[in-house]
Amino acid sequence: MATYKKILAAVDLTEESIQVLDRARSMAILYEAELSIAHVIEPLGYAYGGDIPMDLTEVQKQLEDHAKKYLKDIGGKYNTPEDQQHVIIGRPETEIHRLAEAGDYDLVLVGSHGRHGIQLLLGSTSNGVLHGAKCDVLAVRID
Ligand code: AMP
Repeated sequence: MATYKKILAAVDLTEESIQVLDRARSMAILYEAELSIAHVIEPLGYAYGGDIPMDLTEVQKQLEDHAKKYLKDIGGKYNTPEDQQHVIIGRPETEIHRLAEAGDYDLVLVGSHGRHGIQLLLGSTSNGVLHGAKCDVLAVRID
């Protein structure tokens, strides 16, 4: 029987995150596994308003602080101490793959809106994580 020892929940910090986290916690309890949570922030870089370059470093920093606070606030509820809370800058799919491999996770959970038809072709973060993952991926159906 498959068993999971290290589980990673990827969250976008929207209200659907709770559904992903609740399922991840249930899986962690079931398998007596360690649960970690990750959020990836896409780099904003520089935006240009007319000819005036706008430095978004401060906004990026605020996004990072918000994500860290979110993970810290829920850390107790989901039994994830600070070293199991990850805020990473980059492309969500790429960084989740990288973290899952580097941290030897054996299960990654993402939320899925159950899109179908043409929207599947457009790709989504959950599809991106599923494709190319070296471990199991559980897509939690979001109501
Ligand atoms: P999406 O495919 O963008 O609708 O997102 C579906 C799921 O992908 C979310 O419920 C999360 O599990 C995961 N996800 C999306 N964006 C991020 C992000 N920035 N960081 C971590 N996980 C994410």
